[in-house]
Amino acid sequence: MRLGIISALAEEQHGLIEALYSPAKQIHGMREYTSGKLWEIDAVCVLSRIGKVAAAMTAAILVEKFGVTHIIFTGVAGSGDKNVKVGDIVVADTLVQHDFDASPLFPRFEIPLTGLSSFATDVALTEKLAGAAAPVARVHRGLIASGDQFIGKSTQIQALKAALPDVLAVEMEGAAVAQVCFELGIPFAVIRTISDNANDDAAVDFMHFIKTVASRYAFDVIRNFCRCGAGGNPWSL
Ligand code: SAH
Repeated sequence: MRLGIISALAEEQHGLIEALYSPAKQIHGMREYTSGKLWEIDAVCVLSRIGKVAAAMTAAILVEKFGVTHIIFTGVAGSGDKNVKVGDIVVADTLVQHDFDASPLFPRFEIPLTGLSSFATDVALTEKLAGAAAPVARVHRGLIASGDQFIGKSTQIQALKAALPDVLAVEMEGAAVAQVCFELGIPFAVIRTISDNANDDAAVDFMHFIKTVASRYAFDVIRNFCRCGAGGNPWSL
């Protein structure tokens, strides 16, 4: 296993680079890829920057240039469900690009030529990640929606929920990584800590969360994952 770990923001990656043993940095396409050993796992950490194109490019380069065999995206997200609270964790089972609409040529949300409107994460990787997250926060499993929009108005999240009632969290990168990994045949998983409620208070809540607590979550979950705290050896994936 060679694990690619993508985050969108520096705060989401905090501590991971420092935890890499024997780190080697390489700049490519305006991203800094840091390779090394993360608690015995061969890993490459990178910041994708924000949005679907940025995330898709980063995922493709991780696979094609850095030879990763598995990808985890770790970051923050807005809540898409009243039971999903700030500080909870959502681990994706499936992801949808909520702003994709080629109708009437294709059904709304369907990605042309894939026949899919959502992409499933790798079951084994997702199980291990959810196990690693369980000691850190309350964990929900389900649908994450991604789009090139910060959802920061109650009317926006209501409209999104009306179209996609099962959504648990909204963010801006996960489903793009999902499509790339699907097309390249790479097992992947997405984990998001809830930073805001994707409503009129979202921008303020997001900034507060990212400054104060966001960083601990990613670090603790990835450490548990790599140390097999979830009760399984990631090497066997
Ligand atoms: N002003 C911020 C913008 C961050 S955009 C900055 O420059 O740092 C929000 C980031 O957090 C994205 O990477 C997205 O994936 C995630 N996110 C958190 N809350 C979100 C929400 N309510 N809607 C969409 N994305 C959200």
